[in-house]
Amino acid sequence: MDFSLSEEHKAVQKLARDFAEKEVAPIIKEADRKQEMPSFILPRLGELGLLGLCIPVKYGGQGMDYITLGLVCEELDYVDIALRTALSVHLGLNSLGLLQWGTEEQKQLYLMPQALGEKFGMFGLTEPGAGSDVANMSSTARLEGDSYVINGEKTWISLASQAHHILWFAKTDTDAGNAGISAFIIETDRPGITKGDIHGKMGSRAGSTGWVNCQDVRIPASNILGEEGEGFKIAMSCLDNGRYTVGSGCVGVMRASLDASTKYANERRAFGAKIGKLQLVQQKIAQMTADYEIGLMMYLKVGWLKNKGIRNTRETSLLKWFATEAAFKNANEAIQIHGAYGYSDEYDVERFMRNVRVTTIYEGTSEVQQLIQAGYALGYRKDGELRCELPHYDEDEWQKSN
Ligand SMILES: Cc1cc2nc3c(=O)[nH]c(=O)nc-3n(C[C@H](O)[C@H](O)[C@H](O)COP(=O)(O)OP(=O)(O)OC[C@H]3O[C@@H](n4cnc5c(N)ncnc54)[C@H](O)[C@@H]3O)c2cc1C
Repeated sequence: MDFSLSEEHKAVQKLARDFAEKEVAPIIKEADRKQEMPSFILPRLGELGLLGLCIPVKYGGQGMDYITLGLVCEELDYVDIALRTALSVHLGLNSLGLLQWGTEEQKQLYLMPQALGEKFGMFGLTEPGAGSDVANMSSTARLEGDSYVINGEKTWISLASQAHHILWFAKTDTDAGNAGISAFIIETDRPGITKGDIHGKMGSRAGSTGWVNCQDVRIPASNILGEEGEGFKIAMSCLDNGRYTVGSGCVGVMRASLDASTKYANERRAFGAKIGKLQLVQQKIAQMTADYEIGLMMYLKVGWLKNKGIRNTRETSLLKWFATEAAFKNANEAIQIHGAYGYSDEYDVERFMRNVRVTTIYEGTSEVQQLIQAGYALGYRKDGELRCELPHYDEDEWQKSN
């Protein structure tokens, strides 16, 4: 495995860094205070080509690899996780799902405009009564002639107000547990859809989170993604991509916490010296450095597995669990190093900690990731049960199209 970055990797990394630092960082505190997602963010991510980053060129994307996706997520989270969360949902959970499971017609109709940044996608798995326990969902889809009729309620849905399509999971067979779940593409302007925002979040306040309800929403039967009963498998494969974006993004939070801490430790003085000279402060900085490097290596490895098209559910889950927990711990340590100033929004570190808190919850809680890890280690979980091909990066195809 080669750890060096190509010229293309570096160019896209710089593009994402410049966008986050020059266009978002100056306004992020205000957006966080107002609890509003700045309206320019999604269109701008689209203009920069980031919304279709690793979607093939023939579907309107950039045809870049998964390492590039990880690098971009790291850069976005370095400034604010609301930026990366939008990309995680639109590209990681929705568009890559359409690429993997969609028919050619669905790819032309839904994936292409999403990759071009003309339309936005969201992911509707969680319900008021069902989060980790997906099989407990109440949403239903009933086949009537050439249509499905959808009923149900989704909550904690990122981009609920902005997205044009939702990947909606519902039961087509209410007695079959996970095997009774199917996936549907639903345009949000269909009659019977209502949606709204959730306010009062602890963090990720510059991001958009809301709810979406379907009451007798009629969609063409051709809007099913995959086959009836494949919804659980589809959701899990989407999470294999989404969790990669969360994990690599959290490496950016670790780097931001470390950079803020080293800067402050070299400025703030106590007991006649910079606090960076104090060994207990140095211990924190050393641990933060190690966590950052471990997270970086983990996501480069997972990106490499994805590029090769090798199943990576175990490694992606491990990355997600490790990086989210470490990022929260490091953001908390960054506040400690800043003392009272760290507790004020004069400095960024309190926002880092509030923001990153959600990452151990969404896209599968840390407890769920631990169950996955233990399941693999003990031999209770085998990939065959959830076998599905991942879309993989093809160097030859990329060379041809660029
Ligand atoms: C800001 C934000 C954005 C989100 N965006 C989206 C989105 O775009 N789309 C979407 O579908 N969802 C989204 N979510 C929802 C998120 O994915 C769920 O909150 C998450 O899956 C956990 O579900 P829950 O909140 O219902 O918790 P629950 O599943 O009720 O869990 C509560 C607690 O019980 C623990 N627990 C549950 N089962 C087990 C078990 N078997 N063993 C041990 N412990 C267990 C959990 O780990 C947790 O600590 C978002 C959430 C937030 C906060």
